[in-house]
Amino acid sequence: MPIPIVIDDVFKAITRPLSGSDEKLILEAYHFAENAHRGQKRKSGADYIVHCLHVAKTLAEIGMDAKTLVASILHDVPEDTEITLAEIEKKFGDEVAYLIDGITKLGKIKLRGTKEEYYLENLRKMFLAMAKDIRVVIIKLADRLHNMRTLEHLPPDKQERIARETMEVYAPIANRLGIGEIKGELEDLCFKYLEPEHYAETKKIEEMYLREGEKYMQSVIALFRTLLTKEKIQILDISGRTKHLYRLYQKLKRHDMDVSQIYDFIAIRVVVPTIADCYESLGIIHREYRPMVGRIKDYISLPKPNGYQSLHTTVFGPDGRILEIQIRTQKMHDESEYGIAAHWMYTEKARPSWQNLFFRRKTDTVTLPKDLTWVKQLQEWQKEVGRDDREFAEGLKIEFFKNHIFAFTPKGDIIDLPEEATPIDFAYAIHSEIGNRTVGAKADRKMVPLDYQIKNGQVIEIITVKEKKKPSLDWLAFVKTSTAKSRIRQEHRHSEFETGKQ
Ligand code: MN
Repeated sequence: MPIPIVIDDVFKAITRPLSGSDEKLILEAYHFAENAHRGQKRKSGADYIVHCLHVAKTLAEIGMDAKTLVASILHDVPEDTEITLAEIEKKFGDEVAYLIDGITKLGKIKLRGTKEEYYLENLRKMFLAMAKDIRVVIIKLADRLHNMRTLEHLPPDKQERIARETMEVYAPIANRLGIGEIKGELEDLCFKYLEPEHYAETKKIEEMYLREGEKYMQSVIALFRTLLTKEKIQILDISGRTKHLYRLYQKLKRHDMDVSQIYDFIAIRVVVPTIADCYESLGIIHREYRPMVGRIKDYISLPKPNGYQSLHTTVFGPDGRILEIQIRTQKMHDESEYGIAAHWMYTEKARPSWQNLFFRRKTDTVTLPKDLTWVKQLQEWQKEVGRDDREFAEGLKIEFFKNHIFAFTPKGDIIDLPEEATPIDFAYAIHSEIGNRTVGAKADRKMVPLDYQIKNGQVIEIITVKEKKKPSLDWLAFVKTSTAKSRIRQEHRHSEFETGKQ
């Protein structure tokens, strides 16, 4: 039985101080949504509002701001009830309406599964670009998380489709935004539906190992606590960490399912106040327990591309057993769990932490993988944005796709085009035959001229004639893509050759 959830659970999950007016707004949103969805049920049989509350609770846990919580409670209202976005805007203001509008629009994009990595990468980018405000993406991730948690109530074919889409698009986006908490759970849920046998096998290994390893872990934690405290290191938190199941499986697969090869099966996470404390703790631990060669990783000086910071080491621990230790500050910890969302927890600090999320002092020495070049673009404009919170909100609008637009076919497929591209570019991007046979075009169901400049997010329908047609040379004056240009020229050379004109 699912645990019932009430609005109080959302309030309890809020980690940051809330103003009286924010509290009132959240309550109002709750009553409004409860009323609007009344009578509607989820596939599980639960009242629809339960879904909205779960989404809001996840966002409260990762420290999102009040407007985001309000928008998340209301996120399915315009789509699933009689109430319009205009009504919501009147009652809750334009910022909330803007966020909900973004969520509704994102929901309409079909993220179809395909094996092609280039296409998937495009989808992820587009998803981010379409959202404009990063909070929209974060709400969408929390929405998907709850839908994945309740996936058992859907028929198997839908389970598979949604799980695949989540694995290919949503989990990588969560990873990219550095929200490890959501990414890990999404992957584990997908794993269960996509590879049920491997999931069961991995779970069995984990349970066996944990039952046996739990006592050891507790004794190590006690030992470390004494050791570090004796050296005057203040420990904010020390705990044993279990690996997410899907990640564990990936690792096991690389080692022929041999558990003894997994060194970070047991990992101890130590949270200390300062960066100096991190390095000092590492030194103390290495003095007592011999580190394994090649397993010391300084992600504080050299953060991972998504901004992750921590010290990692693997040592021969008590009784000679191998274990991994991760040492970090509270801020690094929050950022690794909540990623870009952690910004809201640190706005009071002199330097907004989000600036450090993608752009850290020493990032220059980190080579970003090729597919992460967009992160660089993100870094560039994040550097420009000042500390002011309003400016920050502005800055969150993702504008790094300045020279790019995304248009859709009537079936929902995405065509990636340069700015000012025309229906002819669109047609050639689909197929050269479609380009050759184009006689007209519609943008969002209205007829437009062939030199029309497509806007981001428009649905473009190309009208063609059946018989083979020669593209017009006039098109060369306005097409933007090199594909269209070369196809048009090629077609003309062909026909000139065929008619022997030369
Ligand atoms: Mn929803």
